[in-house]
Amino acid sequence: MKTACLSIALAVTVTACATNPATGKPQFSLMSEEQEIAAGQQNDVEVRREMGVYDDRALEEYITTTGMRLAQMSERPNLPWHFTMVDVPAINAFALPGGYIYITRGILVFLDDESQLAGVLGHEIGHVTARHAVQQYSKSTGAELGLILGSIFVPQARPFGQLAESGLGLLFLKNSRDDEAQADQLGVKYAARAGWDPAGVPRMLTTLGRIEEASDEKGVPNWLATHPAPEDRVQRVQAAVQQAEAGATRLVTDRDPYLKRIDGIVYGDNPEQGVVRGSSFLHRHLRFAIDFPTGWDVNNGQTQVVAKEPGGKPLMILQELQRPQGRTIEDVALLSMQRAGFRVVNGGQATINGLAAFVGTYQGTLQDLGRVEIRGAHIMQDRNVFLVAGIAPIGAYDAVEPAFSQSIRSFRPLTRGEAEAIRPNHVGLYTARDGDTWQSIAERSGKGVVKATTLAIMNSHAVNDQPRPGERLKIVVAG
Ligand SMILES: [Zn+2]
Repeated sequence: MKTACLSIALAVTVTACATNPATGKPQFSLMSEEQEIAAGQQNDVEVRREMGVYDDRALEEYITTTGMRLAQMSERPNLPWHFTMVDVPAINAFALPGGYIYITRGILVFLDDESQLAGVLGHEIGHVTARHAVQQYSKSTGAELGLILGSIFVPQARPFGQLAESGLGLLFLKNSRDDEAQADQLGVKYAARAGWDPAGVPRMLTTLGRIEEASDEKGVPNWLATHPAPEDRVQRVQAAVQQAEAGATRLVTDRDPYLKRIDGIVYGDNPEQGVVRGSSFLHRHLRFAIDFPTGWDVNNGQTQVVAKEPGGKPLMILQELQRPQGRTIEDVALLSMQRAGFRVVNGGQATINGLAAFVGTYQGTLQDLGRVEIRGAHIMQDRNVFLVAGIAPIGAYDAVEPAFSQSIRSFRPLTRGEAEAIRPNHVGLYTARDGDTWQSIAERSGKGVVKATTLAIMNSHAVNDQPRPGERLKIVVAG
């Protein structure tokens, strides 16, 4: 969870030494409340366009109602608060200045009751009320923020510009440990005032900690890069929880109503943005499929799909070329690779599963890999041009080239029927029976749909204990 400052392109006027609404302390600020709201509004458009809004009116209303109850308990009840559920599988929540709060469908799956949802929303509201982004903006310069923004929109001239990209992650400002602790404490305060058990905050943080422990480097949620270790935060927030509990009369957790609300939401990739199935990638809307080398990790990012050999350097990328230039597919290929700074070693026209293509070998330099050799195919399908490229450091290229070529040859159009058969996995509810284990429940979902550890974590369990018979559980149902 983080406060994001996307592109604050405001004419900055100095309104020095305002009072911080959440702390009551004076603070130096370059931004008035009107400017803060305008910045949020402007960037909200970008977030919605980049990430997409999850299409579920009832759920969005539920989140808004929950968020508004918390915001009313905050020091800034009159901000124009907005709560949006973005259509991304990443486990995240974030805020823009001026009262714009976002929660991903990915994190909703891992929250286990309403008090935890209130904890996450309260934390983000806390970033806004304490004006953390505004403070950071005041400390940094517009130019720096401009750079942060610039790195996300891959200019077409540099298709390999951001191999390490993780969606909008690069745009997020890093919050300090103190800002995070403060947001956690404000979340506790708002939740308790609005009638939720404030212990939802440390329980939600415990779940985030378990996710962190269980992840390898692939799929590490964005917030991990910007937030202090969850275990530390659990410790730090305990005193605030005890204090809030002492002063409150009736506090609810509301697990069952929460589970009912999220029953059926999409889990993992949405077919409209392409889905990963094992080492294959399929796109319902663009109607194609490709098989990456067996056993590789496939990551479906906002602008490209990246497949990586576990523990190795070679990788493959797949992306759609925006506004391809050139009369023929050969022109398009050579021009785009040269513009990206790569030298053509050889290449020729080819037909891949009935599609016109240009397959070439290129050399150049990439930031993380040094000197690289690339096997790349520019493939035309309908009016789109896709680039499928295998990239390896020069010394490692020969060994992995056959795998690159095999993958490139697997690119294929899908029939309408095949495309429509790609359904998203979704969350379902299940009551545990005698003898059930996370492993047995995971196996029932189908191969590779969900891991046993993931099921344990999303149901607020430590990975080494087992479900209790009769316990109501979230499970993943294959599409
Ligand atoms: Zn945060």
